[in-house]
Amino acid sequence: MVSAVRTVLGDLPPAELGVTDSHDHLFFRSPRLPGQELDDAPAARAELAAFRAAGGSAVVQWTPYGLGRRAADLPPLSRATGVHVVCATGLHQDVHYAEDTPAALRGRLADVFVAELTEGIGDTGVRAGLVKVAGGFHGLDAHARWTMTAAAEAHHATGAPVAVHLEMGTAALDVLDLLCGELEVPPHRVILGHLNRFPDSVLHRQAAESGCYLAFDGPSRTHHATDWRMPDAVRALAEGGFGDRLLLGGDTVVAAARSVDGGPGMPYLLRRVRPRLAAELGADLVEQVLTENPGRAFAVDWR
Ligand SMILES: [Zn+2]
Repeated sequence: MVSAVRTVLGDLPPAELGVTDSHDHLFFRSPRLPGQELDDAPAARAELAAFRAAGGSAVVQWTPYGLGRRAADLPPLSRATGVHVVCATGLHQDVHYAEDTPAALRGRLADVFVAELTEGIGDTGVRAGLVKVAGGFHGLDAHARWTMTAAAEAHHATGAPVAVHLEMGTAALDVLDLLCGELEVPPHRVILGHLNRFPDSVLHRQAAESGCYLAFDGPSRTHHATDWRMPDAVRALAEGGFGDRLLLGGDTVVAAARSVDGGPGMPYLLRRVRPRLAAELGADLVEQVLTENPGRAFAVDWR
């Protein structure tokens, strides 16, 4: 069995992934963000091209089931721009769905995740490369427990990594207790996102000690109050010996945040975050965080 990152164009040796935006969105549509949908293929193509022009090689889209992933559009976009794209299955928080969406998945959620990882999303033939789920604000509700249980089942069936949206960066230890404790997902198959939104260095260290990956993302207008603390948080983790567990992403979730619409978008990761973090960690470690770490975090011995 050979480890591979499951991209929208097929399985890729992790060494070929290159400079990776480990958490972002080309497409995302939620009733919570009306009028701000990422739902425009030409804009997505321009954003990917801008990322490529800035030196980017791969983008991991964390948009889960039912939020306008547009899986069929991803292979042509990847081909046209030369950027590797990995897409997700999984389920977001309840508030992102109309009532009937989760209801229709009762009793078969893990099967849906497994099918999207191994056969493809809908009838597109495009396979997901990770499972994305979400925690709540300092706790986990029944919906979060249900989706994480299904994600763990899908992990055990396929080997897929489980990427977690932490609400405002909180409930990291609750997520780890559930996923890695109760549900026995190996910590190195779990990626925690948004920890920068709750910059408690002790908590970050406790999460890192579990052996999971920590994905730092942004900037975003909503999280401007804490975004500036990200370089300090990343440096503290690197100094603690967790440099090999760090990932970075842009997490563009609204149209106004795309670089092609005047926002930071995907290129910001390489244009501004990379040199800023190089000042904290040194250029070598930043390159490792952008290339080797994602190769390890997303490569799977697919079952
Ligand atoms: Zn995201």
